[in-house]
Amino acid sequence: MVVARHSRGELEAGFAVCCAGAWADRLAVSAGADPDPRIVPFRGAYLTLRSDRRELVRALILPRARPRTALPRVHLSRHIDGEVSVGPTALMAGARDAYSLRRIRPRDLAQTLAWPGTWRMARRWWRTGATEIGHAVSRRSLARAAAGYVPEIRPGDLEHGFAGVRAQALGRDGRLVDDFVISDTERALHVRNAPSPAATSSLAIARLIADRVEERLRP
Ligand SMILES: Cc1cc2nc3c(=O)[nH]c(=O)nc-3n(C[C@H](O)[C@H](O)[C@H](O)COP(=O)(O)OP(=O)(O)OC[C@H]3O[C@@H](n4cnc5c(N)ncnc54)[C@H](O)[C@@H]3O)c2cc1C
Repeated sequence: MVVARHSRGELEAGFAVCCAGAWADRLAVSAGADPDPRIVPFRGAYLTLRSDRRELVRALILPRARPRTALPRVHLSRHIDGEVSVGPTALMAGARDAYSLRRIRPRDLAQTLAWPGTWRMARRWWRTGATEIGHAVSRRSLARAAAGYVPEIRPGDLEHGFAGVRAQALGRDGRLVDDFVISDTERALHVRNAPSPAATSSLAIARLIADRVEERLRP
């Protein structure tokens, strides 16, 4: 029997499917799964194009994926209300809910720093990391990256946007895991890494998970 404790009480079940995003590794490890990979939070901030400059971007503009890293590259997205976002940045964060830049949770930070993969990744990708810090602290740097696709874009065209936290699965060997990771424990299935485009593919992923659960529960 699995007992899920939540803010309104408890729920008992014969089997559980855990989809805890940035906290997925913690739940999986507490249920007995391998600690590899660990979730390391990356804050992704977007700026938006000033409304009088939106006509510069009339479609999604996406670069090719960066070889061998799962980190997203700066892209331009036209949303259904006409707003155009530019980003994201990718800054390693001090908390799994670092929606504000200043948020630090000692437990999250300690787990990131104690993970051997963090240091292996840093050694391998320090140049990319330096570029990403530049994008995060300097509007001019982000505008320059956007101007690689739309040369008319200037720093003054960008204004305040929004931010999210990417749950980046990081292997012990320093590999930024870019594929789905699903772990089995005795009475649960854990979605440990569902990287972009997981939101887009959510129905297909749900089918895959349902099939796996059915297989586990077959007598
Ligand atoms: C800035 C940004 C932009 C993105 N853009 C896109 C995009 O354009 N297209 C795309 O396909 N994907 C995009 N993604 C990726 C997409 O958001 C993720 O791949 C997807 O949300 C992962 O789904 P998930 O269910 O694994 O985790 P989440 O969506 O993070 O869901 C996990 C849920 O579990 C809850 N939870 C955690 N721990 C517990 C606990 N102990 N008890 C109870 N509840 C718990 C959390 O509060 C959360 O609601 C983007 C991500 C970011 C950060």
